[in-house]
Amino acid sequence: MSGWIAVAGLGPGAETLVTPEVSVALAEATDIVGYIPYVARVAARPGLRLHASDNRVEVERARHALELAAAGARVVIVSSGDPGVFAMASALFEALEAAPEHQQLDIRVLPGITAMLAAAARAGAPLGHDFCAINLSDNLKPWALIEARLRAAAQADFAMAFYNPRSRSRPEGFARVLELLREACGGERLITFARAVSTPEEQLVTVTLAEATPEMADMRTVVLVGNSATRRVGRWVYTPRSA
Ligand code: SAH
Repeated sequence: MSGWIAVAGLGPGAETLVTPEVSVALAEATDIVGYIPYVARVAARPGLRLHASDNRVEVERARHALELAAAGARVVIVSSGDPGVFAMASALFEALEAAPEHQQLDIRVLPGITAMLAAAARAGAPLGHDFCAINLSDNLKPWALIEARLRAAAQADFAMAFYNPRSRSRPEGFARVLELLREACGGERLITFARAVSTPEEQLVTVTLAEATPEMADMRTVVLVGNSATRRVGRWVYTPRSA
């Protein structure tokens, strides 16, 4: 039997938000590879080997998956949300660049529902016009680049989605982000904090930038900032389709 790799997104949390395509890959797999809490979301069964690893070892993890598949295993690399959004798909291709002997392997990327889209759906339609997604972790890029992109996005009047808003290594970073946004967008701009979307711990709160505090976000929160036209309608938040 020849091996393969599927890089799969498990969605934001709820079982119902796992795509049928991903469920099929998980059912056919011999090996699951991924960050500990994501591997924990896969149901154990006899014959299924679980390889859970810690954060920040993405390329090593990907190399391990390539070696398993080359030896005949059917490997699913799991990410939360979508594997292409600040997750394992790019790490796999980085590992593949460094291991040309594996480039003929059967590799598929299986999309998932990313956190910002699950959160936006709960809130209404805050990303209904042009928007951008920014990872606020400075783990893999300098903080100055994060600020430059925030300013550019505010200047262009994009709605924005922020992943990894408060990292343990830089807890003061998100306070700086809020300050920068208040300066660039004004205090009346709407901001939604969506925590643990689609899980039993889900919490959504929308406030103005003037009311927002850094503690409203943690590492399980995705943050959505509206553009200049984003507004409330009833209990919803939406961004008009036109500008
Ligand atoms: N690949 C994932 C993102 C990984 S980065 C995706 O596509 O969703 C991890 C960040 O995603 C978290 O810090 C948080 O900002 C966001 N996130 C992941 N799951 C979430 C959920 N259920 N609710 C809110 N934010 C979530």
